Amino acid sequence: MNGRAGAPVIRVLDQATVNQIAAGEVVERPASVVKELTENAIDAGARSIRIDLTSSPTGISSVRVTDDGSGMSPADAIMAFTPHATSKITAITDLDRISTLGFRGEALASIAAVSRVTLITRPRDNPGEPGTKIVITGGVIAANIPIGAPEGTSILVEDLFFNTPARKKFQKSRNTELAHIHGLLEGIVLAHPSIAFRLYHNGVEKLLTDRDGTLPDAIARVYGPELARDLIPVSAQGPLVQVSGYISLPAQSRRDHSRIRIAINKRYVSSPAIINAIKEGYGTLLPKDRFPVAFLSITVDPAMVDVNVHPTKKLVRISREPEIMLAIRHGIHTVLFQANLMPDAGSPTQELLPEYHEETAVQQPDPGEYRIPDIQPGIVSEPTHAGGIMTDRQLRRTEPDTGVPPVTPRIPPLQVIGQFGGIYILATTDTGELVVIDQHAAHERILYEIVSNHGQDDQVLQELIVPVVLHRTPRESALLRELLPALSREGFVMEDFGRDTFLVRAIPVFLGKPEDLGMIDEIISDLTSPESGQRVDNRERITRVIACRGAVKAGTVCSQEQCQRVADQLRQAKNPFTCPHGRPTLIRFSKEDLDGMFKRT
Ligand code: ADP
Ligand code: MG
Repeated sequence: MNGRAGAPVIRVLDQATVNQIAAGEVVERPASVVKELTENAIDAGARSIRIDLTSSPTGISSVRVTDDGSGMSPADAIMAFTPHATSKITAITDLDRISTLGFRGEALASIAAVSRVTLITRPRDNPGEPGTKIVITGGVIAANIPIGAPEGTSILVEDLFFNTPARKKFQKSRNTELAHIHGLLEGIVLAHPSIAFRLYHNGVEKLLTDRDGTLPDAIARVYGPELARDLIPVSAQGPLVQVSGYISLPAQSRRDHSRIRIAINKRYVSSPAIINAIKEGYGTLLPKDRFPVAFLSITVDPAMVDVNVHPTKKLVRISREPEIMLAIRHGIHTVLFQANLMPDAGSPTQELLPEYHEETAVQQPDPGEYRIPDIQPGIVSEPTHAGGIMTDRQLRRTEPDTGVPPVTPRIPPLQVIGQFGGIYILATTDTGELVVIDQHAAHERILYEIVSNHGQDDQVLQELIVPVVLHRTPRESALLRELLPALSREGFVMEDFGRDTFLVRAIPVFLGKPEDLGMIDEIISDLTSPESGQRVDNRERITRVIACRGAVKAGTVCSQEQCQRVADQLRQAKNPFTCPHGRPTLIRFSKEDLDGMFKRT
């Protein structure tokens, strides 16, 4: 720009600079090195892979990946560091049937451009050929000599980003980098349960899996045997896709999706769309701010996955995505509705309750002790009615319709023994277990199912003798006007009276005779509040609000007979285990659980 007139200002960069710039796309951080080297080892057919990390307080100092895979001949070993040199594809058409993790031929060249790499390799299937040692520093070959070596390959990477100070400066703390590496390896290890992985950090063993293991074996090694024991197998087959793996009971839900690991065609990927499909498979079994644990292996025709979206290949593009997501959602939904979901007191049920996650809650350290802090979840707000008394009318509304065939109950017969604190119903089963029912959650579930099952022509509304007048703010009015048609289908007949005033003429029969008209105002406010379920459609949203506001409130005193009716009605629910927000409706205590608590062994 400020050059002399006529002198050219545009010039081609020298090769070293080009390589460093290109390297930035593949090698973002130390975890990228671990990823590329480990994936190369897998592509080389390794049956066991060892990863050694060293770190100092300022960050990761070295990464070494050692495998017993194919190894390389002396000629291939040096070729491997040339940009765009690969043994995995030869032409663009091969991109449609990629079966290897790598194919761009960029990783080794990129890593070598920004670090000091020492490669030692010897081919496995050609015993006559010697081993090779190559040292490259900042892209410059410092040594290339024959050497005695075991079959397979070992690559050591040190001084990462020594010649790209800007990149080095942006590295996060040691623990953040370690957390990234651990997260990545969890995903890779679970995508390849038959490969033995060993991970060491500063000489200390952090992870060990077996050769020829199964997915549950790998899950147990990574996350502990307790988690692995309680998982439910999933196996679903769509026309385009095959889904297999394990998912957790709703009670093992978590605040983040760090325990959802997905592999597509054995490639560990991160996919917000699939995480969403998994969540949708749980439906109302999970609160909207909670995530299940899930380890899924998805197999599709390689031509349907475009891996070549980003140099790191972690994000992939899937064609026919809606059908694939439907298969995942459906597969999960199906197993959950066959499983026995009644949490027992021995399992860490409390993990489920958002209310338990106070600031003071003790965090379970993750294996590998590095953890990025979680976000605190919202608190579920529910109506309470301290000192209220249950009316029979409320229960009559939720009595099963005589015309409807009864469902096969998913919970055993319950004999109510009493109510506790105006909130819990205590009952026993015929096998001598104690079951504690949250009366509001249970009644909310019952009402929710009745409201969501009502048919098109059913009588859903009851007219109010005196219409209720509601005044809204201009913003609320706009939202409400939008909802008027949907509301009237569900039984709320409202008239826009102008000037942000609405006249409520009828309300859903499911709400019963309104005992206090303020309730109508509350319901309408719930529906237009910004928090009210962005992820669900209008009908679902209205149904949930009706169920919540219409159900017997916590704090309402019920007679034994009324409690029994709630318990019996709950047994008729298709999903008796959680309320529509995903909180549990009941918890079981076996005699052994209680004996254990009282130390009667
Ligand atoms: P890509 O994996 O995309 O082919 P890389 O730069 O990661 O590109 O590797 C280049 C080539 O080096 C690979 O195609 C492979 O032939 C060879 N290679 C790399 N790592 C190994 C290894 N651990 N064992 C055997 N060959 C390897
Ligand atoms: Mg590679």
